[in-house]
Amino acid sequence: MADVVCVASWNADLISQVARPIARGETLMARSFSISPGGKGSNAAVAAARQGASVALIARIGDDDFGRMGMDLWHAEGIATEHVEQAPGERSGVAQILVYDDGDNSIAVHPGAGAGLGAAQVQAAAALLANCRVVMASCEVPVEATLQAFQLARKANAITLLNPAPARALPDALLALVDVLTPNESELLQLAGPAHSGSVDDAAQHLLTQGVGAVLVTLGATGCRLYQTGQAPVALAGRSMTVRDTIGAGDTFTGALAAALARGQTLAIAMEWANAAAALSVTRHGAIDGIPAYGEVAALLR
Ligand code: AMP
Repeated sequence: MADVVCVASWNADLISQVARPIARGETLMARSFSISPGGKGSNAAVAAARQGASVALIARIGDDDFGRMGMDLWHAEGIATEHVEQAPGERSGVAQILVYDDGDNSIAVHPGAGAGLGAAQVQAAAALLANCRVVMASCEVPVEATLQAFQLARKANAITLLNPAPARALPDALLALVDVLTPNESELLQLAGPAHSGSVDDAAQHLLTQGVGAVLVTLGATGCRLYQTGQAPVALAGRSMTVRDTIGAGDTFTGALAAALARGQTLAIAMEWANAAAALSVTRHGAIDGIPAYGEVAALLR
């Protein structure tokens, strides 16, 4: 049994450093190449685990070296993998990432076996979902899987947390099951649609009318802002940090938020933890390497 259950995506990030964007038909020598763990769900699960939560995954990975890399990571982080299906003959998700000298990047993601994560696999984890405190997901997993997980979470009075990244249209039935939504600014504006994309305030209020319990929008270096029905928005300033890269900041934010909510913290306190954890993550390179431990966040908040 676990405090936090994550319906998770998994990718191996294949990262090449190149001087500039490559033209169609052109081949360019890369300056460096690395392979590192990725996937918003996996990253957030690791963040929750490092923040002290007991975490279990519901995920689907390939029967390949990249799948074994995910398993090795989760076991090292103490994350339960009984509901991770290793699909015979399928490949794991991969993200091919080109990082340019100016720090910008281009990414092609293929979800691989993750595209086959469906409601039946989630239903098979019903006992896990009936005994947890927080269920989290992102838009990198099929919406049917998230819907099924959140329906079971509601029955168990668990808190549902959705990181709507990458942004895509979500069914009303799912939005009505979300207790806490953690979009960044552009995801929020896309989700709210053209009629409500004039301002962050308008977009967040619109999502509240669609049944979302709370909208916690992340605003990069500016911090984050919490919207709840009938209450004035609560803004939290970003912490002043020396930034190395912001890869994984949003995933760290969501995972740390889940862990704090699972400890029984209020949303206002949990958001301070998430804001501090995400701030620490931008001071280090990489998604997984950037995720801080509980003690580091506690020290920053003292
Ligand atoms: P984002 O996905 O860019 O909105 O960032 C998620 C969270 O990471 C923000 O809400 C902040 O808590 C933190 N964060 C991102 N960028 C910075 C930064 N430059 N300085 C401090 N905190 C940051």
